[in-house]
Amino acid sequence: MHDYDSFNEDVICTLAMAVGEDNVTMVEPMSRHTTFQIGGPADVLVTPETPEALVKVLDTCAIAGVPVTVVGNGSDLLVGDRGIRGVVVLLRENFSGISVEGTRVTAEAGALLRDVALAAADAGLSGLEPLWGIPATVGGACFMNAGAYDACTADVLESVTVYVPGGPDEGGARLRGSVRTLGRDELDMGYRKSRVASEGLVVISATFALAPGNSAMIRADMDGYQRRREEKQPLDLPSAGSTFKRPQGYFAGKLIMDAGLAGARVGAAEVSTKHCGFVVNAGGATAADVRGLIAHVQDTVREQFGVELEPEVRMIGEF
Ligand SMILES: Cc1cc2nc3c(=O)[nH]c(=O)nc-3n(C[C@H](O)[C@H](O)[C@H](O)COP(=O)(O)OP(=O)(O)OC[C@H]3O[C@@H](n4cnc5c(N)ncnc54)[C@H](O)[C@@H]3O)c2cc1C
Repeated sequence: MHDYDSFNEDVICTLAMAVGEDNVTMVEPMSRHTTFQIGGPADVLVTPETPEALVKVLDTCAIAGVPVTVVGNGSDLLVGDRGIRGVVVLLRENFSGISVEGTRVTAEAGALLRDVALAAADAGLSGLEPLWGIPATVGGACFMNAGAYDACTADVLESVTVYVPGGPDEGGARLRGSVRTLGRDELDMGYRKSRVASEGLVVISATFALAPGNSAMIRADMDGYQRRREEKQPLDLPSAGSTFKRPQGYFAGKLIMDAGLAGARVGAAEVSTKHCGFVVNAGGATAADVRGLIAHVQDTVREQFGVELEPEVRMIGEF
């Protein structure tokens, strides 16, 4: 388990007081919280239910010097087999309120993009259709600027409310963070990048600005996008979506296929034969299997085509 002094009973008690005892779990397998269904234990998993409780958790850990990892739907994560030291803050069902006001939809960070899009469609609001099949939470979508079918989160995002870490003061003392609302233009969003990621901000909620539309037509468009996804992607097997970012001027999946790697395996990690851009868990794969396969794919594509594939999947924790 942990090996830092300050992660003691007092910290656990303060966390339990902030979020309620039922929302603190010790030694929780992360395989339960990632779409890869892979990952060793988090020392402590905390699931706050309110923004105030979330801020209290983040401040408590910051001041105690306990590392914090925020996890949404775990759909872009490869968690190491030895798990994650410190506190994992899981923002999902407990933190997923959605409200619609005029043409704006505001959602808490743990709401699934899918549910936000469905609420928007019900209210006759258009803009989220291409994105709704991405299995992201709102927090994860803002962090990654998740996108699909020539659209991305930044296209419809109006603002995010974030926790900004305090950092140490001049004397080295660790400080509380603050809560701020940032407009889309302040978020430096680009291809799979954002200020949320580069500055370690924690998304509390986000507001999307949408356009009025017809509910039935919006739902029909959403169904169309979903069909395209089902045709192309190996949705029947656990994965973290596209394993690699799109290299400039190429498609990762095509390069991997042309390198003869369809179906290539390390342990139970496999390059999908349906879409070579996906590494899938073919049953009981370890994080070491997936990491080994990623390295094999990178080496092979580099040797054959001189192209460097950069993982899109985020590898976190201890391997
Ligand atoms: C079948 C499948 C299809 C996919 N298709 C697409 C696609 O079409 N387009 C695409 O872009 N991606 C796709 N993905 C990848 C993934 O869904 C996205 O990267 C998504 O944005 C991750 O969101 P998440 O909530 O699961 O985040 P997680 O995987 O839980 O976390 C990803 C990163 O975001 C951070 N994070 C999560 N929540 C917060 C928060 N509240 N505040 C701050 N940081 C936070 C985490 O710390 C982590 O670094 C796909 C994945 C799968 C499994």
